[in-house]
Amino acid sequence: MSVRVRFAPSPTGFLHIGGARTALFNWLYARHTGGKFILRIEDTDAARNSQEAVEVILSGLRWLGLDWDEGPITGDATGPGKGDHGPYFQSQRKANYQQRVEALLSHGLAYEHEGAIKFKMTRDPITIPDLVVGDVVRPLTDREVQDPDFVIVRSDGQPVFHLVNVIDDLEMGITHVIRGEDHLSNTAKHIALFRAFGVPAPKYAHIPLILNQDGSKMSKRDRGASLATYTDEGFLPEAVNNYLCLLGWSPKDNIEKLSLPEVVKRFDLPQILRHNAKFDFEKLTWLQGEYCRDLPADRFYELAVHALAKAGQDTNALPVASVKAALDTCRGKIKTFADLPAYAGFYFRDEIICDAEAAKKSFVSENKPRVEKLRDAFSKLVTFDAASIEAELKTTATELGVKVGVLIHPTRLAVTGHPNGPSLYHLLEVIGKEKTLARIEKALCQFR
Ligand code: GLU
Repeated sequence: MSVRVRFAPSPTGFLHIGGARTALFNWLYARHTGGKFILRIEDTDAARNSQEAVEVILSGLRWLGLDWDEGPITGDATGPGKGDHGPYFQSQRKANYQQRVEALLSHGLAYEHEGAIKFKMTRDPITIPDLVVGDVVRPLTDREVQDPDFVIVRSDGQPVFHLVNVIDDLEMGITHVIRGEDHLSNTAKHIALFRAFGVPAPKYAHIPLILNQDGSKMSKRDRGASLATYTDEGFLPEAVNNYLCLLGWSPKDNIEKLSLPEVVKRFDLPQILRHNAKFDFEKLTWLQGEYCRDLPADRFYELAVHALAKAGQDTNALPVASVKAALDTCRGKIKTFADLPAYAGFYFRDEIICDAEAAKKSFVSENKPRVEKLRDAFSKLVTFDAASIEAELKTTATELGVKVGVLIHPTRLAVTGHPNGPSLYHLLEVIGKEKTLARIEKALCQFR
């Protein structure tokens, strides 16, 4: 039997990191087994859903590269790779639900109650054979003991989550339901509904929740809870995917940096961890740094230029070779692309505003003649490359009887506006002699 899994988000306007991980685990399982990954938007609650909320989910999945395999043909490119398949929308499947409800009613498995339709729930306990958690028998709550039946269609005609979720899993031939552990409490109801429809329930794998470091539940407001944090803050999808893989799954040899194709090879449900996963922003940032360092040059340039443009910094004024040379000085230095405009912005704008704190320390009167001497030495350089700049700065420092740092700090501040940044000699080479001298000249007026 070939595997068919699904991600079934309700469009709420944001994609929770836990939802993204659920999507990823389903996708990984489908790719690992050669099965199908289905995307189904659970949008029956018309009051809460909007096209924008759906778009948040679709663009999040596209950003992560989690392509879905089937769905109604939409005619436009909504799925990465398999462009012509949209996701399934529950709002478009009302007739299916109606038919199924009629079948339950006609078999005496559901009944009308105060305008609503209730499902006749089994009175026997149901065991959930879960692939992660093991066998789970959930005792009925007091209310359920009194009346285990539950509403499947509200009095306003709206079918409820349990019903549509099960009908869709059934009709879409879902073999494995991989979802957050918060749904474990719904699963007995779902299994009972499958039985009522006369089909065996899919296999279940409830994955542990993602908690904050202090063990509290990750809410919408917690840093890192929304996928938008990563798309907005210039993270790389490969780093986020890698990190999400480690949230509740672990390769046997405990390697932490794994590419997605590598995880596809290794991923399997029995390795999903039973205990809750703690969200660790620092580890994610570490992975991000690793992936950033390893980026092929072209992709680094592309993402860097995009991040700069987003921050309003135009790279078009400079020749491509200079832009590349400038960005090369930043490789391995920044963690996320969102750091780039502050780190490298001085290359792309003419006006340099010097950090006030640093200026207090570096732009002091005894440094002024030293920087003037360095300016004169630089102005005589015929070849203005990193090696010559370095040699000249060192010679000047020796002649002045000061450490190189005494010249490096004010010069860096004058040219970049910041107390730290890329290698000074390399950045000066990129900026060029003329601009370097002009910026030093301008800064000399600010010495006190
Ligand atoms: N729409 C449900 C949710 O977003 C889906 C639950 C499931 O995966 O079955 O939580």
